[in-house]
Amino acid sequence: MANQLKKEAVISGAGLVGSLWAIMLARRGYEVRVYERRPDFRNTGFAGGRSINLALSDRGWKALERAGVDELIREKAISMAGRMIHSQEGAQSFQPYGQEGQAIYSVSRSGLNLALVEAASAYPGVTFHFEHKCQGYQTEKGEVRFLHEASQKRIIERPALLFAADGAFSAVRAALTKQTRFNYSQQYLDYGYKELSIPPAPGGGHRLEPNALHIWPRGNFMLIALPNADGSFTCTLFLPFEGPVSFEGLTTDDLVMRFFRRHFPDALALMPELIQDFNGNPTASLVTVRCSPWHFRNQVLLMGDAAHAIVPFYGQGMNAGFEDCTLLDDLANKYQEDWGRIMPEFNRTRIADGNAIADLALRNFVEMRDLVADPKFQLRKEMEAWLAERYPKEFLPLYSMVSFSHIPYSRALAEGKAQDQLFESLLSIDQVQANWRTNPEVVRRFGAWVKGRG
Ligand SMILES: Cc1cc2nc3c(=O)[nH]c(=O)nc-3n(C[C@H](O)[C@H](O)[C@H](O)COP(=O)(O)OP(=O)(O)OC[C@H]3O[C@@H](n4cnc5c(N)ncnc54)[C@H](O)[C@@H]3O)c2cc1C
Repeated sequence: MANQLKKEAVISGAGLVGSLWAIMLARRGYEVRVYERRPDFRNTGFAGGRSINLALSDRGWKALERAGVDELIREKAISMAGRMIHSQEGAQSFQPYGQEGQAIYSVSRSGLNLALVEAASAYPGVTFHFEHKCQGYQTEKGEVRFLHEASQKRIIERPALLFAADGAFSAVRAALTKQTRFNYSQQYLDYGYKELSIPPAPGGGHRLEPNALHIWPRGNFMLIALPNADGSFTCTLFLPFEGPVSFEGLTTDDLVMRFFRRHFPDALALMPELIQDFNGNPTASLVTVRCSPWHFRNQVLLMGDAAHAIVPFYGQGMNAGFEDCTLLDDLANKYQEDWGRIMPEFNRTRIADGNAIADLALRNFVEMRDLVADPKFQLRKEMEAWLAERYPKEFLPLYSMVSFSHIPYSRALAEGKAQDQLFESLLSIDQVQANWRTNPEVVRRFGAWVKGRG
């Protein structure tokens, strides 16, 4: 009880979600102790790892605004108003993500994490304990242990509130999987990814259009590139681990060069350090984690990747984790910080959304690596934009629902399925490709679809 009166919480993980959540709790007057496995990156710099930059969209911005740190991040964020598709022949075509003025933003992972940790540390009640690895949670004792590996010293906490933001391979979650009726699944893709880079132009500036997310779709695999503030691009190659065209086949520098010459010649011309990058950077895997429940009693709550790790193809993993923070903050207002009500409600309402964005992200992989190059898909995108502009009350494209709205992911997924049916019907209209803007059948079928959905 004393703990609750004192308003204390422990967070495992000072990644993107843990450090943002520390700010939100501190703003409520909580004393927060954050334990993080990595060394303090405020002193040592940020040790590599996953994606150097990330796409931040409306859900993420809302949480950053709530925490009062959005302006800091905005200064260095680069807007990406659409996809720039690079054909095999080197032609480029731009597909806007939404309406005029709408964009997702490329931000530096390390810059964002650093800004969040610094902003959290500015609150007197927040302390960070770096190089402390969570070793799990003992449910019977309500005890969480952190090991300082260098000194082998242990800290044992018995927090009234433990927030597990320790990522896709969460140690806290691993402990909860031992509970009866804890559901858990972990699904790896047969694809891996490797980060590569396009350096800035000789006199500075970007060598490709900076305000776009570049994609080289090649059917079964793809290369993408997101801009950085220093003029460089971070590229990611997504490729099967095994098979005829795969990482397994790229065993020599010569084979890597031949592969790029054949599939990405225009990108290769901009990548003088391809071989160093290819050999120096790991080939990493991609996992989807689903679990339930996300809470243990009213003491422990999983959030961010610890609760819902997803593949990166919708650019929503971090955004979803940030949205967890906003929603929990809303519930804390609604229930006057009664965690006995907040945790069960978050669990009841949010898991379906975690599962939905996991499904949407998997589905978007096919869209990115293959469909974006398909003329029928491009036609659908143009029709979507047209309908959204003409009938804003009746139609919001799926991509906009996910990236530019706060509609629950589960509703967006359901709407997206309904939209698939609509476009199956519209694209089957005779000659639609040539005359869709003026063909009354398009508007008639759209009207019937809207009416049918009540
Ligand atoms: C290639 C790639 C590209 C991506 N691109 C995007 C994108 O464009 N947009 C987007 O929204 N999302 C993207 N994501 C997803 C995004 O990276 C994650 O969803 C996000 O990092 C989740 O934040 P988190 O704080 O929950 O977990 P993490 O960022 O993983 O942070 C977890 C923290 O916990 C620490 N930790 C782990 N174990 C322990 C332990 N035992 N004890 C103590 N500390 C521990 C870790 O060191 C880390 O600091 C991408 C992911 C990948 C792999």
